[in-house]
Amino acid sequence: MATSAKCPHFLKCPFFNNRMAAMPTVVEQLQRRYCNDDYRQCARYLVNQKFIQGYSPRDEKEASSLERDFDILFPNNIEKAEEIIHRLVK
Ligand code: SF4
Repeated sequence: MATSAKCPHFLKCPFFNNRMAAMPTVVEQLQRRYCNDDYRQCARYLVNQKFIQGYSPRDEKEASSLERDFDILFPNNIEKAEEIIHRLVK
C-alpha cells in the first residue's frame, strides 16, 4: 500500500493561503497532486529547500526580484523553480 505525507510547509504556504481563493478547483487539483502527496516534486518546495539550506540573494534588488517570482510560482512550474534556484546559487 502506498503511503502519502503532507508537505511540511502546508499550513504556512502563502501560495494557497493568499493567492488562490478565486480558483477552488485548481487549488484542489494542485493540493491533491503536490501538497497532500508528492510534495518533493513541487516547484515551491524545491525553492524553499534552497532557502532552508542557507542560500540567499546577493543583493536587495535581486532579493526583490526573487521574492516577486517566488510569490507567484505555481507548484507545477518546475522550469521557473530551476531558474530561481540558478539565480540563488550562482
Ligand atoms: S504548494 Fe508546495 S510548498 Fe506549498 S504546501 Fe503545497 S507542496 Fe508544500
